[in-house]
Amino acid sequence: MNFSSKLLEDAVAEFAKLPGVGQKTALRLVLHLLNRDKEEVQKFSNAVSKLRNEIQFCQSCHNISDLKVCEICASHKRDHSLICVVEDTRDVMAIENTNQYNGVYHVLGGLISPMDGIGPGDLQVDTLVERLKENGVKEVIFALSATMEGDTTIFYLHKRLKQFAINISTIARGIAFGGELEYVDEITLGRSIVTRVPYENSLS
Ligand SMILES: [Zn+2]
Repeated sequence: MNFSSKLLEDAVAEFAKLPGVGQKTALRLVLHLLNRDKEEVQKFSNAVSKLRNEIQFCQSCHNISDLKVCEICASHKRDHSLICVVEDTRDVMAIENTNQYNGVYHVLGGLISPMDGIGPGDLQVDTLVERLKENGVKEVIFALSATMEGDTTIFYLHKRLKQFAINISTIARGIAFGGELEYVDEITLGRSIVTRVPYENSLS
């Protein structure tokens, strides 16, 4: 693309770095911003930069949070004996939207993927083990995608967790999850949590 302005070119280049945004879309978005009021654009850029600078991760479950401990972990209405293990914050949002789960979460921050050089040490695995050492946890539910990475991660976690006297279960496999969250229907996801099965039974 030939740009008539270096400022325009730089802005388009930044937008084009976002996932799913090509040069043409980036240009359309940038031109759209140019048509907005300056105050509106300032609000937009403030929100992005505040998000990046001020966001925290919950000390307990590692979910994205405005506070040191997220609202879910801090709530007395939640069942803290039940921990649902998920890949990232999108999964927490999807499960919360089902209104079928009243436990707490543990956000791994990814999945084990030897191909991408991601090992257990890159994920929040040790902190999960630490949480189980505290009394009171009765069940861990794996809600990870039915992919090679999801399966590898569950297999590894199960080995680490079976030393504890807790139930280990998994949601129904094969439903769209993880990166395909926008396609998950809430009823199916909600049902798969309610009808979760012991992990050992899920192996066939
Ligand atoms: Zn939390």
